[in-house]
Amino acid sequence: MRTLAIIGSGPAGFYTAEAALKSFGDDVRIDIIDKLPTPYGLIRAGVAPDHQSIKAVSRRYDAVATDQRVRFLGHVCVGQDISVAELTALYDDVVLAVGAPHDRPLGVPGDDLPGVLGSAAFVGWYNGHPDFADLAPPLQAEAVAIVGNGNVAIDCARILAKTVRELQDTDIVNHALDPLSKSGVQRVHILGRRGPHQASFTLKEVGELGDLERATPVVREADFPPRETDASLETGQRRVVEVLRKFAAAGPDGAKPVSITLDFFHRPLRVIGDGKAEAIEVMRTRLDSEGRAIDTGETRTIPVGLVISCIGYRTSPVDGAHFDESAGRFISTDGLIGPGLWCVGWARRGPTGTIGTNRQDGFSLIERLAATPPAGNKAGRDGIDRLLSERAVKVSQFADWQRIDAAEVARARTGAPREKIVKIAEMRSLTG
Ligand code: NAP
Repeated sequence: MRTLAIIGSGPAGFYTAEAALKSFGDDVRIDIIDKLPTPYGLIRAGVAPDHQSIKAVSRRYDAVATDQRVRFLGHVCVGQDISVAELTALYDDVVLAVGAPHDRPLGVPGDDLPGVLGSAAFVGWYNGHPDFADLAPPLQAEAVAIVGNGNVAIDCARILAKTVRELQDTDIVNHALDPLSKSGVQRVHILGRRGPHQASFTLKEVGELGDLERATPVVREADFPPRETDASLETGQRRVVEVLRKFAAAGPDGAKPVSITLDFFHRPLRVIGDGKAEAIEVMRTRLDSEGRAIDTGETRTIPVGLVISCIGYRTSPVDGAHFDESAGRFISTDGLIGPGLWCVGWARRGPTGTIGTNRQDGFSLIERLAATPPAGNKAGRDGIDRLLSERAVKVSQFADWQRIDAAEVARARTGAPREKIVKIAEMRSLTG
């Protein structure tokens, strides 16, 4: 019997478990460990609340979690309640599927001022992650700067710009919807240090900017290279650029009071403010022959009361696993960190790709893992249960999550799929 501990119950963790069930059949027992009492990681706390169709993938994960060969051990913090070394002593294989939950620092003067937030915090706040429930972003600001040209930047801009009516039927938490409904935000600047050809947006996300009830995209035609150069782009990127060109040609819709300006070729220099963010100073950039952003020497100061940095994420280092500080992820050979210790998903390859990329990643990890004979004679479930019980760690099982789930669905506002519980103590009060 092969014993497998997967740390992290997001997409990478669940796809790895699904692959292990398929590969090992009856000859495997899997424990999925998460520090929260709730499963699904990024699906619950990262994917935008108005993208419910993406969140629906969690139903597929439920089939894995309720399989007899799988247990969910929630509210167990690896590194605190139990170490990675203890887990590798207990299980044949331990897989770190911990994602990349921390913001990459902006690294400019003033980035520690109140009103400067990372996307992990801002997204976690509107998605009801317990760590960010008390964030209270300064939404009285008339203007906001969002740094980065990826899909997370678009998610943040869209949530700031949508009306209550547009958000009502989503699972955005009330603690975010209420202040957003009274928000003073009129201008959102999405700052990209390079140009439209280099933006990391995908088609659906960029297209949605043109369909907002009260907000309009603003794109400058001068930021585009000659149209014939679009032919050199791969198809997905070419379509994104086509949409951006359409926005530029149409100009902003004057009937809409909120603008979302795509400020290409703007690199943040510093956040300015007396005790809080009041403006961001940026350097105008251009591309060098290698496609890198280089400074033009021309600067601009944009008054903003909130800065959200969406420039990528980092994994948490854990004792016993080599870590690449500059890349912010574990050092591995195709997912193998050391004997019996593996990593998968964003923890292996960094914060790139879609949810589905983690499926391929989980399945190919299990192929490699299956080619390695298990050490055998590991205490597995009996061992971890004994150890956690000695340490008085009260584990949340999947049935406990199902009770939380039912309570969230029951208290949803009209039209919404659920109202998330954001306090761990409240979740724990519902568990058996
Ligand atoms: P991302 O796609 O890697 O974009 C990061 C952006 O930050 C890039 O434009 C990058 O510019 C910029 N950047 C990095 N360091 C910077 C700095 N120091 N100053 C200024 N700009 C900087 O990351 P993401 O938006 O966090 O998304 C993470 C992953 O999740 C992506 O694969 C994304 O597609 C995915 N995602 C998907 C969805 C969806 O499908 N709906 C939603 C959200 C996220 P350079 O290109 O110049 O480096």
